[in-house]
Amino acid sequence: MTARRSRRRKSVAVFAASATLVFAPPAVAWGDAGHVIIATIAYARLTPAARRGVDALLARDADTLTPPDFASRATWADRYRDADRNGSRVQYLGTRFWHFVDIDVDRPDLDAACHGDPPLTPGTPASAGPAEACVIDKVEQFDAELRDRTLPRGERLLALKFMIHLVGDLHQPLHAATRRDHGGNDLAVRGPGGAHVIDNLHAYWDVHLVDALGGPPRTIAARMNRRIAPREAGAWAAGRPADWARESNAAARAVAYRFDAGALQRDAQGRSVVTLDAHYDARALPLVRSRLSKAGVRLAALLNAAFD
Ligand SMILES: [Zn+2]
Repeated sequence: MTARRSRRRKSVAVFAASATLVFAPPAVAWGDAGHVIIATIAYARLTPAARRGVDALLARDADTLTPPDFASRATWADRYRDADRNGSRVQYLGTRFWHFVDIDVDRPDLDAACHGDPPLTPGTPASAGPAEACVIDKVEQFDAELRDRTLPRGERLLALKFMIHLVGDLHQPLHAATRRDHGGNDLAVRGPGGAHVIDNLHAYWDVHLVDALGGPPRTIAARMNRRIAPREAGAWAAGRPADWARESNAAARAVAYRFDAGALQRDAQGRSVVTLDAHYDARALPLVRSRLSKAGVRLAALLNAAFD
């Protein structure tokens, strides 16, 4: 118990220290397109009762950070976090860790990555919960709030808006994996041939690979949704957020962080740069489709259970 507690304390300290070393602001989760795809798949899979429940909660939401519909609210948590990023930073510092879980791909330790799972103080709503909580713990907490109809409507609305977004984040492989590079945020990416830096690896997965799917997000979602077999959806809906984070982590190790020998280098400024091989996208895109589809199916399953 003591060893466990001290390890937790150390992991928080290391995390806090390393967080100050990030020079560029970390990229957002799946870009907006990824979140809209996930939410569109999920909404199409809601039971009539769940659809009535989420629509009723969203209908009275006066928040203007995003449009009010279900798919648009999938990007709300990023907007909320960033709204005071250059000001008071209350929302930013209070929720930024909720979007990911930095599980080391070489030495996976969920406990350490979740900063020792700081508990919610009894009586504290999850929307005001521990700033250092990881995405796994937040999805569990907001899920519990959505199931509890005795809670104030305002808190259940916040729980819903965080859920729509965070279940998506959990499925982005680099939101549940790191190689001491902040989930790829500190690793610059050059395209095949190494001509120029495209972005960092995290943003490459958030945005560039989703864009490479082609077409408007809602069209992509409809196409993906049609391809999900009922038996497949049933199997995907099993498990809990911690299982889905482990899956993301394994996918990051097998695909996102899989590079040719010699592809990783340091540039003249000492930054890490990876040159992707010609087949990187061909390996990545099926995984991107699979993660987006699974996230949509699982978000629907959580909401269907909560509003049953
Ligand atoms: Zn996010």
